[in-house]
Amino acid sequence: MHQFPDASAVVRASAPDRPVILNRPHAAARAARFFVEKFPGRSLYAVKANPSADLLRVLWDSGVTHYDVASIAEVRLVRSTLPEAVLCFMHPVKTASAIAEAYSIHGCRVFSLDSVEELEKIKAATGNAEDLSLCVRLRVSSEYSELSLASKFGVDLADAAELLQATRQVADSLGICFHVGSQSMSPHGYVQALERVRAAIVDASVLVDIVDVGGGFPSVYPGMEPPPLEDYFGVIDRTYESLPISYSAELWCEPGRALCAEYNSLVVQVEKRRGKELFINDGAYGALFDAAHVGWRFPVKLLRHGADEATEAFSFYGPTCDDLDHMEGPFELPSDAKAGDYIEIGMLGAYGAAMKTAFNGFGETEVHEVSDEPMASQYTGSRRDPRVTDNVVALR
Ligand SMILES: *Cc1c(COP(=O)(O)O)cnc(C)c1O
Repeated sequence: MHQFPDASAVVRASAPDRPVILNRPHAAARAARFFVEKFPGRSLYAVKANPSADLLRVLWDSGVTHYDVASIAEVRLVRSTLPEAVLCFMHPVKTASAIAEAYSIHGCRVFSLDSVEELEKIKAATGNAEDLSLCVRLRVSSEYSELSLASKFGVDLADAAELLQATRQVADSLGICFHVGSQSMSPHGYVQALERVRAAIVDASVLVDIVDVGGGFPSVYPGMEPPPLEDYFGVIDRTYESLPISYSAELWCEPGRALCAEYNSLVVQVEKRRGKELFINDGAYGALFDAAHVGWRFPVKLLRHGADEATEAFSFYGPTCDDLDHMEGPFELPSDAKAGDYIEIGMLGAYGAAMKTAFNGFGETEVHEVSDEPMASQYTGSRRDPRVTDNVVALR
């Protein structure tokens, strides 16, 4: 992997005719240190957001010791990349063989579940192990989030008491976890979810050792400017502290997006212009899955000196022969954008690089490292930690 100052230097050096992924390890390290230092508990990295081994090493070096894995392939990847990492298998529906391998070969002791069937499966696959941390996944609302995770997983509050009691019988350490949905635009989603956790604990009258508020912490995109992360941490901390849980209980979170969104951008080449549509060499089956399938807007920058100052709203087509390979945008670019131009598309570290396929023979990329700032960041502000300011007593 070559190192360059920025995307323009990459283009000058090689005029690439296939997409180029740019890594910004300094940005991922900064995000990791932020969570490690400011989240009022333990931060697990949700590997599915970006499973690059280079990124895993950056996060580990920045203090992230626990990893949320969801498949046996992710278990093996993290174990082989970070031999000392703590693995937490947080997919509530696993195969028996995946549980058995994770437990006996890779040392995984933390599992999530949302049904009695899964609890029985975990017992059987681990030989009735007595050293398990078991996290019951509670269904919560996704109403404040851009991408819902509310329908597929999680036990309903009405059925939670029974499952919590059954799990308590098996678990050395009992947890409750949830996911408010990805890109949660308001801290209030976590408060609502934690109130549901409170109701579940009261209903079940069980001792809870871990409260895991999951992922969903937002990043910054055009048209989506969330409140500062300190606001999320502040309300989570206050609500968590008021829960009826064990004195020695632990608070966890599982950010994916927030830790890696700033890690990657993508350099694409314009192959054709048709009106306000640009045909580019990456798309829906490449790193731009969310741009195509959920209309996500990413920041864009034309990499040419002397381009028009005036901008226009463009949409993109990707390289495959499929009409679905279309990204509505709008993407604001200089009005004279044309074939042969290069565009840098930012904030693609989360669910971007991770989504690439080889459909239709496309998908080959180069990877380089750059040292400039990501196109947006929520870690460069100078905002003070509200937990500090909240506690200030006015003397005069
Ligand atoms: C996807 C996922 C995450 C990460 O979510 P983000 O929105 O990227 O922070 C965390 N936990 C679980 C269980 C997940 O499925």
